Amino acid sequence: MARRKKIYEGKAKILYEGTEPGTLVQYFKDDATAFNAEKKAVIEGKGVLNNRLSEFFMTGLTNIGVPNHFIRRLNMREQLVRQVEIIPLEVIVRNFAAGSMAKRLGIEEGERLPRPIIEFSLKDDKLGDPLVPEEYIIAFGWAAQQDLDDIVSLALRVNDFLSGVMYGVGIRLVDFKIEVGRVWDGDFQRLIVADEISPDSCRLWDRESGQKLDKDVFRRDLGDLADAYTEVARRLGVMPSNATHMPKPTLIN
Ligand code: C5P
Repeated sequence: MARRKKIYEGKAKILYEGTEPGTLVQYFKDDATAFNAEKKAVIEGKGVLNNRLSEFFMTGLTNIGVPNHFIRRLNMREQLVRQVEIIPLEVIVRNFAAGSMAKRLGIEEGERLPRPIIEFSLKDDKLGDPLVPEEYIIAFGWAAQQDLDDIVSLALRVNDFLSGVMYGVGIRLVDFKIEVGRVWDGDFQRLIVADEISPDSCRLWDRESGQKLDKDVFRRDLGDLADAYTEVARRLGVMPSNATHMPKPTLIN
């Protein structure tokens, strides 16, 4: 059997050539990294959970008309996605102060922001993904003004959708990161949500207890990461409802 071609390997995912033109296979690894890969571990089952959760969120976005790269899930760890030209920015949306913003501004974590705030970091591991103002983005040509307007509107729609879905299962969407890609339909280009949406790229707090159900559990040594992600999946109905503690998550196909 011919070996498939690896296109790119990142910290948590691998991209292979897709089964149809203009597609890629996105494989979710169990690797967890934090602080620009200074902290690393293998969390058994994380890739399976994130594959399912990203499928769940992207499908929901499709259902409300927010364009994204997801085509279909192929198996427990892989999904078929549209090939895009990734805009080299991490698009971060914050509803409550936390993480780097809380640290930078000396704000208490959990303080509600006056409105959702969007910020951009340059995708560059060597530089540690520095925060960049719009002025830099336009001047250096990482995206055009029209792209930024489209990115902001996509990011706010994703925020409304995710906040609502999470609210419904007792979870506060504190912040999240998305990536955006360019696709071409003939001569016309469009921007769509790409990469993944999962507890690796969101901050999710239980609305009552404040318990963290996202990658901060790993970053800050707060417990078992797979348990936290399993809880998110269980509440969203992505896992069977009787699943409680599952050190090695087994998901229904
Ligand atoms: O660390 P910071 O507070 O800037 O992160 C904001 C949000 O963006 C968090 O939900 C974090 O998980 C996500 N993020 C990410 N990938 C990065 C940086 C941040 O998913 N490289």
